[in-house]
Amino acid sequence: MHRLEKLFLEHLAPTSPEPLGLTVSRARGAYIFDLKNKRYIDLIAGISVGVAGHSHPRILRALRKQMKRHLHVMVYGEFVQRPQVKLAERLLRYTEAPIDCVYFVNSGAEATELAMKLAKKATGRPHFVAFRGGYHGSTQGALSLMAEEKWRFPFSPLLPGIAYLPFNEIEALKTIDQSTAAVFVEVIQAETGASPARPEFLKALRDRCDATGALLVVDEIQTGLGRTGKFWSHSWYGLRPDIILSAKALGGGLPLGAVLASRHLFKILANHPPLGHITTFGGNPLSCAAALGMLEVLEKENLCAQAIEKEKIIRETLVHPQVAEVRGRGLLLALVLRQKGAAPRLARQCLEAGVMTDWFLFSEDALRIAPPLNIPEKVLQKALNILLKVIEKEAK
Ligand code: PLP
Repeated sequence: MHRLEKLFLEHLAPTSPEPLGLTVSRARGAYIFDLKNKRYIDLIAGISVGVAGHSHPRILRALRKQMKRHLHVMVYGEFVQRPQVKLAERLLRYTEAPIDCVYFVNSGAEATELAMKLAKKATGRPHFVAFRGGYHGSTQGALSLMAEEKWRFPFSPLLPGIAYLPFNEIEALKTIDQSTAAVFVEVIQAETGASPARPEFLKALRDRCDATGALLVVDEIQTGLGRTGKFWSHSWYGLRPDIILSAKALGGGLPLGAVLASRHLFKILANHPPLGHITTFGGNPLSCAAALGMLEVLEKENLCAQAIEKEKIIRETLVHPQVAEVRGRGLLLALVLRQKGAAPRLARQCLEAGVMTDWFLFSEDALRIAPPLNIPEKVLQKALNILLKVIEKEAK
């Protein structure tokens, strides 16, 4: 065992009994290299982070430029910092009314926390609604929105007053009422294995929020920024959120999250009391510079179109009697296996064979296929062939 691996096991707090444990020396494009310079094709992009691939030259250039100017200078919201302002202006080109304002934070979970606080203060209401199979982060507020008891119970008591409704069931939306501050939804639930909402369900959800005055919060933390083939996944449905949550891919490989809403709504955080949400590093200038680099790549390399093209290739290639279904949209896909619980075992075999894949938080029946959107077609094809070989070997 390499010394680094030994120190990792000794000194870093574990999050699972058996971490994947790949020791990374460097990463470029769609590849991760280990200490022996073995190359792995990355089919998960750091869990939906690297839409532009690892260490894209445009992102590195943007970082170098910003590093020469300044790093952290002040907590979020007090100083005018060029990368933050430019990023906000650029992101808002992709939103519609009423969303015209951005609050930058550090992570997805912090974006969820901020949206919960914002909704409570704006509406004066105590309750939230979330959907079974949804995931919005691991901090106490965000975890409170997670329906599955197994994950919530050991950390109870969490926040009270949250209703967990079945996803895609219109009838259940009656639970949303005048006491609901906000409803949190992923229009494609990532962690159940890329399960899309039905368009009729989302329409009924928007109508019910309008009828009751509940705010509709769309979590685009995993689905946003081109991953599903459109800048935001809710655009596939013509849905109009009140609040959008973003993170993961946003920082181009650096930590960054954002809550996007109307200026009118955000104003309440600045008064009675002021400083309704405080973050030291939210909107860090380096993260924002990297994000601007990432958006440049997204536009220049037409990453949305690339996601749609490559989804086709994946669907055409991954045909096998052991594959029940390829679910999801764009390059947020789940390869659903007929053999229950087989995904962790197959993912480890793929890793041996030089392909990095993974399963899902709520499903060990499916392999995650969410590579960088600009993965070259040849490289993708090679990874898919390896996947098929591993599945074939398992079937024998
Ligand atoms: N929301 C969704 C849909 C996610 O997939 C995640 C993370 O996987 C989060 C929120 C939380 O983001 P973070 O890990 O940055 O806190």
